[in-house]
Amino acid sequence: MNKKQLYDLSNILIMKTETAATLWNECLKMIGKTVSPENYKKWFAQTKGISVEGKMLTVQIPDTSFYTWIEANCASALREALNSVIGTDACLRYSLPKPSLSVVKEPLKKTESYAPFSSHLNAHYTFEQLVEGESNHAAISAGRTIASKPGKTAFNPIFIYGGVGLGKTHLVQAIGNKVVAENPQYRVLYIPSEKFIQQYVDSYHQDKRNDFINYYQNIDVLIIDDVQFFCGKTGSQEVFFHIFNHLHQNGKQLILTADRTPVDMRDIQDRLLSRFKWGLTVKLDTPDYEHRLRILKDKLVREDIKDIPDDVINYIAKTVDTNIRELEGVVNSLLAQSTIIHREITLDLAVDIVSQFIKTTKKELTLDYIKSVVCQSMGVESSLLESSSRKGEIVRARQIAMYFAKTLTQKYSLQNIGSQIAGRDHSTVIHSCKTVSNLIETDKKFRSMVDDIRVKILACA
Ligand code: ADP
Ligand code: MG
Repeated sequence: MNKKQLYDLSNILIMKTETAATLWNECLKMIGKTVSPENYKKWFAQTKGISVEGKMLTVQIPDTSFYTWIEANCASALREALNSVIGTDACLRYSLPKPSLSVVKEPLKKTESYAPFSSHLNAHYTFEQLVEGESNHAAISAGRTIASKPGKTAFNPIFIYGGVGLGKTHLVQAIGNKVVAENPQYRVLYIPSEKFIQQYVDSYHQDKRNDFINYYQNIDVLIIDDVQFFCGKTGSQEVFFHIFNHLHQNGKQLILTADRTPVDMRDIQDRLLSRFKWGLTVKLDTPDYEHRLRILKDKLVREDIKDIPDDVINYIAKTVDTNIRELEGVVNSLLAQSTIIHREITLDLAVDIVSQFIKTTKKELTLDYIKSVVCQSMGVESSLLESSSRKGEIVRARQIAMYFAKTLTQKYSLQNIGSQIAGRDHSTVIHSCKTVSNLIETDKKFRSMVDDIRVKILACA
């Protein structure tokens, strides 16, 4: 590069920096109107625009806690400011200061060497966005305690379990985000267990198993989501067992979630299961009507949606009683529909949407359906269940069908189940359920057959 080119380049760079600084200052003026002076001073005064490329503005922040706070609290003000100063499609990139040479020359202190660690946390999942109620109070308050003293409480590990869409992922990420906000030097890692397993398998094939273990042993707060996927994955369980021990012995925090309790997990080594139970096991329950109502209202306020009538909100809270994800799903499709077809949001529209939504997301499990899947899986003619036959495989199929009818549905009485599945009375159902439960506990082969049938039944639900 000749001198002239060098001169032009440095001028462009200077110009870019100046432009970036000016553009960001314009944005800050707008943002300043939406946050309190204390928060502005704390979170924005030290930020600066450092470069702009097309519609991408890069802003330097002192550390990752700024990013977490800003994204969680000012996302919409920020978007509005960027749109108005730079134009629609503007985007923002955060940049951390490079460690200065003097820092690098000194022996590395923990904080400095850790700066650009990627936690894979979603900044929107914060405690502030979690609406508390009876169903989640215990889990949230344990989560807050851990977030303020990771690794230093008796809640290590914390094992949070509950059905889909009840807030497990949100809660554990809220813990992670709070830890990062308060201790930017901590290495916090969020990882779904399937991804952990995949990484482990890859590392094994690439002969990098030690690198994999080293990486995980250097984490301060390890969050593994949905650990039920470790079931049956012997190699991953083995490696996780060692990582778990190492982290626990070194006072690092472990945070685990699953869709069931440790006791209900199959095909997991006992020594790992017993560790899951070392700290605190806490459940996320289904929210009740009043809690669902508060969650809905909170969402609408956050999204700045004002024109949904009360009867519509009450109706949704009443009918969508499964989980919070479905509650959100119904609201989103209601809003989308009303925008697309320009229909006013009325109770009629809500009834339409809820019924479509429930129809498409959840097919009711009927007794006939359960019976047909069980018989098909076991190769038994389904009409034989009603016969008086005492042939081994027919007796088993009858018992298993009754067991699933009892455990996978709620609306049928024992009487209904007995008569519809096999023309028997309620005492046969009770006896069948006991027999199947006992066999599940004692007979591995039987258990895995029952597990397979359960998967088939639920796959079509
Ligand atoms: P899970 O991991 O248990 O399947 P998620 O954490 O993904 O559930 O939660 C599903 C959705 O419900 C997410 O969008 C989340 O933000 C929302 N959510 C969960 N719990 C709450 C709560 N207590 N208040 C408000 N929103 C919640
Ligand atoms: Mg989840």
